[in-house]
Amino acid sequence: MSYTNKQLEQWDKEYVWHPFTQMKSYIQNNPLIIEKGKGSYLFDIEGKAYLDGYASLWVNVHGHSDPELNSALHEQIEKIAHSTLLGSANVPSILLAKKLAEITPGNLSKVFYSDTGSASVEIALKIAYQYWQNIDSQKYKHKKKFISLDEAYHGDTIGAVSVGGMDLFHRIFQPLLFERIAIPSPYTYRMNEIGNEEEVKQYCLKRLEELLQTESEHIAGLIIEPLVQGAAGMITQPHGFLKEVERLCRAYDVLLICDEVAVGFGRTGTLFACEQEQVVPDIMCMAKGITGGYMPLAATITSDKVYNAFLGNPEEHKTFYHGHTYTGNQLACSIAIKNIELIEQRELVKDIQIKAKAFSQYLSKLYELPIVGDIRQRGLMVGIEIVKNRKSKETFSVHEPIVNQIIMIARSKGLIIRELGPVITMMPVLAMKQEELQQMVDIVYQ
Ligand code: PLP
Repeated sequence: MSYTNKQLEQWDKEYVWHPFTQMKSYIQNNPLIIEKGKGSYLFDIEGKAYLDGYASLWVNVHGHSDPELNSALHEQIEKIAHSTLLGSANVPSILLAKKLAEITPGNLSKVFYSDTGSASVEIALKIAYQYWQNIDSQKYKHKKKFISLDEAYHGDTIGAVSVGGMDLFHRIFQPLLFERIAIPSPYTYRMNEIGNEEEVKQYCLKRLEELLQTESEHIAGLIIEPLVQGAAGMITQPHGFLKEVERLCRAYDVLLICDEVAVGFGRTGTLFACEQEQVVPDIMCMAKGITGGYMPLAATITSDKVYNAFLGNPEEHKTFYHGHTYTGNQLACSIAIKNIELIEQRELVKDIQIKAKAFSQYLSKLYELPIVGDIRQRGLMVGIEIVKNRKSKETFSVHEPIVNQIIMIARSKGLIIRELGPVITMMPVLAMKQEELQQMVDIVYQ
């Protein structure tokens, strides 16, 4: 099929409905159409290079078009692209499940595959809900609700939205959702009235404990993004917060679900974020970085304790009746295996820790700009909160789209980053070189 660049632009506006996008505004501008990628760079149809400071929506690990990942994909496609896990198995899905069981913390060992982060969350919620019904449907008949943090984001399917707390995205769907109970998010920068980071942590934990004291009988599980609430604007949790959440879940018989979709696979400086607090959830969700940004794949991994509750004779109806057509897709699983092998061989996690320290030094220069209110970072996950007034922390109004202007100027200078409300977010390709991280900061600084 032949076409011109102009036609592509026109057809994009005419036929493609972009995610989270007001299309009326979108079609007034020229779209950025990416054609190629190499290493930390993306190239548009005119051949202009951009540093991928967003890791193509937080997924890219080793850089674009990595020769070893490319060969792994070719090798697999010569064998088979897909066959179903319903009633049969396949080689890459077995090998990947074994690997995931080995690299995830504690006794997480049973892998349920899907293809998006949202689906991995749906699965976790359904497993948690059914778990209590399977072990004793009389004793636990009330355990039907979920706890999540204010401003939580766990995806866009209805179950994931139900446990979400981002009003802008979720409000309209309220009548379709099941009930969740919100607890405060430890957003220290915006909780002056509570106090410093430690006081904010204690305050949030106290609220959780009070809730569990009265409600735990109704709670199936608590879902949390460990260490950082990404989509909420990179809200970093105080040290020890997650560990205490785990302790309270154990004390009040509530399943702990860690949503590692954004933070997993090295992003925060350990392979999984919950490792930093020696936390072992009952259920963990992963997606995004699992294939290094190559293929849509997600996994929900559970402990034996959770899995065993689903074993029984068919007439007991303990089966987990859930599955997606592309569950355990061979291409996606084989690339995930190679991605993890390369993370290990290239000692990427250690490298991320070193680069994160350097990144933090470069970023501190941004405090020279009066509009920078707060810089939050865990590993290579950064949020820069922009304020109109540093003292009052007032943000710019919707009529003053400063953050978006910064993003668009950065783009014109060859850097792709994005805003989340008043926060500029940087989620670079994990293999990005130190000098490229510095370049990202320099472009924003100018
Ligand atoms: N959970 C978290 C923490 C996320 O950040 C996201 C996406 O950004 C999701 C779930 C949903 O993943 P997906 O977009 O692959 O459905």
